[in-house]
Amino acid sequence: MRTPIIAGNWKCNMRLGSAYQLANDLRERVDEITGIEKIICPPFIYLATVEAAIAMSSVHLGAQDTHWQDDVAATGEIGPQQLEELVDYVIVGHSERRHVFGETDEAVNRKVKAVLDVNLQPIMCVGETLDEREAGQTESVLVRQTGLGVDGAGIPDGFIIAYEPVWAIGTGRAATADDAEQAIALIRSEVAAKFGDPKAQTVRILYGGSVTPDNIAGFMERKQIDGALVGGASLKADTFAAIIEAAACVRG
Ligand code: PEP
Repeated sequence: MRTPIIAGNWKCNMRLGSAYQLANDLRERVDEITGIEKIICPPFIYLATVEAAIAMSSVHLGAQDTHWQDDVAATGEIGPQQLEELVDYVIVGHSERRHVFGETDEAVNRKVKAVLDVNLQPIMCVGETLDEREAGQTESVLVRQTGLGVDGAGIPDGFIIAYEPVWAIGTGRAATADDAEQAIALIRSEVAAKFGDPKAQTVRILYGGSVTPDNIAGFMERKQIDGALVGGASLKADTFAAIIEAAACVRG
């Protein structure tokens, strides 16, 4: 039995006051919803503030990225041991890290292992660009990103992967539930090829890309899809709470 997840990625949004307010409003709206793991991932600079707003609640805290080492000369970076003092989850390999900041599969793999080493849960993102999709490369991209991302990682039960087709992120053009389910089944089969089917069956694989309160139920109705990673719609307490409520209605 895989516990579903709804995770919000705030990206480079909010200010100190609005970050606290959003986290506080969200806690009030969703604290009592059960059966769904609820996660918010604010910018690094607001993690401590948001942690205070959701303390003692059922809403968990995640970071949006990490360096793969601590205590090194890496100006501007934050390491996994530093994050471990504040968060439970870390997004790794988001498409904006891969495609805007040039993060490689090897870097994603180092980060996944570093996050696991400090007993945090990575949310490892994979997904094809529009060009790759149109060139018929979706399967090979997903197999490569998944396989290299978890290579040698010794993933725990419940490991989290987010399938985020790049063309669906922030575009208002979500994948169909059929397409998302098919991609997620392929990702699960790649995990099974590396670690065996029993382990793969425990892995939570989320869909991400223009998820809204109106389309979340369609994804949650698919048994292969274990929840969602949400960008834009996580920036308002009302819409993010509505997504969590709708997800809980289907699977909570
Ligand atoms: C994301 O950035 O991970 C994402 C899915 O964004 P959006 O929901 O805005 O498409």
